[in-house]
Amino acid sequence: MVDQVNLSDFMDWVVDRNPGETVFHQAVHEVAESVVPFINANPVYAKIKVLHRMAEPDRSVSFRVSWADDNGEVQVNRGYRVQFNNSIGPYKGGIRFHPSVNLGVLKFLGFEQTFKNSLTRLPMGGGKGGADFDPKGRSQHEIMRFCQSFMTELYKYVGPDIDVPAGDIGVGGREIGYMFGQYKRITNSFSGVLTGKGLEYGGSLMRTEATGYGAVYFLEDMLQHIGDSVEGKVAVISGSGNVATHAAEKVLQLGGKPVTLSDSGGFIYDPEGISQERLDWIKRHKTQRGARISDYVNEFGGSFHANQRPWGVPCNVALPCATQNELDENDAKNLIDNKCLAVVEGANMPCTVEAVTALQSAGVLYAPGKAANAGGVGMSGLEMSQNSARLHRDQEDLGAALRKIMRDIHTACVEQGAHGTGPVDYVKGANIAGFKKVADAMLAFGVV
Ligand code: NDP
Repeated sequence: MVDQVNLSDFMDWVVDRNPGETVFHQAVHEVAESVVPFINANPVYAKIKVLHRMAEPDRSVSFRVSWADDNGEVQVNRGYRVQFNNSIGPYKGGIRFHPSVNLGVLKFLGFEQTFKNSLTRLPMGGGKGGADFDPKGRSQHEIMRFCQSFMTELYKYVGPDIDVPAGDIGVGGREIGYMFGQYKRITNSFSGVLTGKGLEYGGSLMRTEATGYGAVYFLEDMLQHIGDSVEGKVAVISGSGNVATHAAEKVLQLGGKPVTLSDSGGFIYDPEGISQERLDWIKRHKTQRGARISDYVNEFGGSFHANQRPWGVPCNVALPCATQNELDENDAKNLIDNKCLAVVEGANMPCTVEAVTALQSAGVLYAPGKAANAGGVGMSGLEMSQNSARLHRDQEDLGAALRKIMRDIHTACVEQGAHGTGPVDYVKGANIAGFKKVADAMLAFGVV
């Protein structure tokens, strides 16, 4: 019986059976690189092929989403739900509406989610879903009809004890409301089937803020671990959606200075710092149809850099909070040259493999998304428990709970990722800590 895993054989196996799904290969490789030595030191995991089984989703469904646009023209999109692993709780992970969505992207996100959810220590398995629908430029009615059509198929696969989706890129409170309304209508049940709900119908305080705030708490813990703090730090941030704006807000609250935000059109640079008032304007502005971050410059000054990313701007810390693979090796070199201390991923897998290697080799502290952005799903877990218990926790209580979740994740990463006097290897730490709980549950179930 095999009691060792060979990394390169394992990756060949993954690549062969998932052809063309490059971001999925990338996500699996990043985890396997850290956990294979751990598995080989604990052969009980290799004997039952835990890693091989973790790299295969429990199931993936794809379905047609037909709907009529405002001109009466019929549109056809493809919806998905990847239920990756429910060993430690119901599947849990966001829904993404973006034209780049395909099965490989959702498999990468669902795989990552399994480890992230495990790190929160809450009982949640990993899943992810979405559609290749582009909400940009669509009217409110079109978005509503799309969400209703999407849920008319998705409802068969989800449920409060089965699979509890949330938002992600292109899916915020409005879309969750439309999907929740349709689920309630079809099933005639009011349940915690989705998180990120409005406060009036079972949502949790702090859910909107949790991912961005949590990422900055993680940054705070990393800096504290080396005797430093966020105060006075210049922060370069990408994205201008939910995660980015709340990350900027928490940087401000901790005495730092966010100087950039971006969208798919480019980035804005405000050397004076993006104040709370300016952030509030961005949050309001970006909810409007077709609104662009470039409009900030007309309102407040600073500069706009079309089709560029912000990583060349001098900074002390960087928070990529837009999308996958948005920070490459050259960007990492710019950050290193500018003496950036820490890179913390608010988005999922925003740094390429080469960028991570460059950052870690140069001694820059690097926090992978599965640890640093777990605050969002952590708060979703608390939304689920409030729904199940039919109770409502207050802001102060949830704020403290989020802070503790992030501190505990940091501690777990340090426990598994510290080596000698060198910087903590947060990739190794997060992967091993996340892996162990899921693997031990799978061990308990036997071969299923
Ligand atoms: P939003 O839809 O609120 O915002 C996404 C932002 O990223 C927008 O500014 C968008 O710009 C930009 N963006 C999207 N695609 C691209 C692209 N290809 N190139 C450049 N910019 C792009 O999403 P969220 O803030 O919720 O999510 C951002 C990231 O955080 C994602 O990786 C998501 O998976 C991750 N995440 C989110 C969580 C959450 O709670 N929301 C939880 C954990 C992780 P534009 O408006 O031009 O499209």
